Amino acid sequence: MLQKLAILGSTGSIGKQTLDICRSHPKQFSAEILTAGNNADLLIEQALEFIPDTVVITNEALYEKVQQGLKDHPIKVFAGEKSVAEVAGYESIDTVVLAMVGFSGLLPAISAIKAKRKLALANKEVLVIAGEIISKLSQEYNVPILPIDSEHSAIFQCLSGERLKDVEKIILTASGGPFRGFSKEQLKNVSLQEALSHPVWKMGSKITIDSATMMNKGFEIIEARWLFNLPPDKIEVLVHPQSIIHSMVQFIDGSIKAQMSKPDMRLPILYALSYPERLKADFQNSGLDNIHELSFEKADPDTFKHLQFAYDVMKAGGGMPCVLNAANEIAVDAFLKEKISFYDMQKLLEKSLSIFAGRKAANVEDLIQIDHEVRNFCLQEI
Ligand code: NDP
Ligand code: MG
Repeated sequence: MLQKLAILGSTGSIGKQTLDICRSHPKQFSAEILTAGNNADLLIEQALEFIPDTVVITNEALYEKVQQGLKDHPIKVFAGEKSVAEVAGYESIDTVVLAMVGFSGLLPAISAIKAKRKLALANKEVLVIAGEIISKLSQEYNVPILPIDSEHSAIFQCLSGERLKDVEKIILTASGGPFRGFSKEQLKNVSLQEALSHPVWKMGSKITIDSATMMNKGFEIIEARWLFNLPPDKIEVLVHPQSIIHSMVQFIDGSIKAQMSKPDMRLPILYALSYPERLKADFQNSGLDNIHELSFEKADPDTFKHLQFAYDVMKAGGGMPCVLNAANEIAVDAFLKEKISFYDMQKLLEKSLSIFAGRKAANVEDLIQIDHEVRNFCLQEI
């Protein structure tokens, strides 16, 4: 049966790869809604190829441009953040692919769940900020959250047919990023260009920097905690530079299940969309015969402080994961604009966590308030 998709963030790395899947599986998936932040040209190009029902451009100043670009086609055009949250709840959609970055995905995620749309989730920050709220909502509305993040897709696949009580622990693998094995001193002198050169994955700029600091792995621990309803002490990180094993589950009898594949995000995207079935894909592995080594190292949260920050906020709970996310969004943005150094990002996070220590959050409004305050604080610091 044809599954109708709303691809929120269609102009990004995950969004474009989701459209690749629509191209290769036209009988299974159709792009009904596309949304972009600022890239109006690509949004228009995608819309002219896929002829979706609706497109949204978040930046309202670009509405006219998109409208003009699509005027000869029966495509509805909207603009603004509210429109993105609105279209995420459209009845005409089967699945929402959430591929936006950071806090921006929170309200669309809630809107999709409340409208009982299946949620394929790449935007991990949503679970970092509001994991408890989102998991409660997904239970209340009986909406599955299907992970797109490769590690979580791997765990999801390893858990298939298993009982949660038989799980000893889950082991998230990490490539280690461009600075694997660096000392604290070496990390102080790295450049933006070096941080943007990920050894394995080609991704959007924010997650690429998060991978260099290991914030990404820290966020993934929190993401796993909520997706699989596991206590933090059952989630481990292991550096595995080849990125062939995407994560593992160890059971109480000592058996370990791992999911392996060549690193290609289209695979976890396809699995999230086709679950519980598997579909034939043209990006299959060519075999393991040319892979000579699978190695593992312990992660180092003492050098990569961002990893420690994630453990700390997960333990603190309340509004603290939201504080960490907001400070990190501002820090990464400033680093990308070369306003601060790699090491300054760590200092900014450390300071924010200390200034906002103990912040509680009971609901989404509290999270919006915290996000706002922390962003302002960090912008002043920079
Ligand atoms: P990109 O930066 O490549 O793309 C982000 C998309 O979201 C773009 O379409 C962008 O629009 C849009 N967007 C960004 N900010 C906003 C905003 N404030 N409001 C509305 N739209 C916005 O990111 P990725 O595709 O790399 O990552 C997306 C998410 O998936 C992230 O949470 C990331 O952590 C996660 N993820 C990504 C992986 C990857 O391989 N890329 C792997 C695993 C997880 P525009 O470009 O038009 O401005
Ligand atoms: Mg990942």
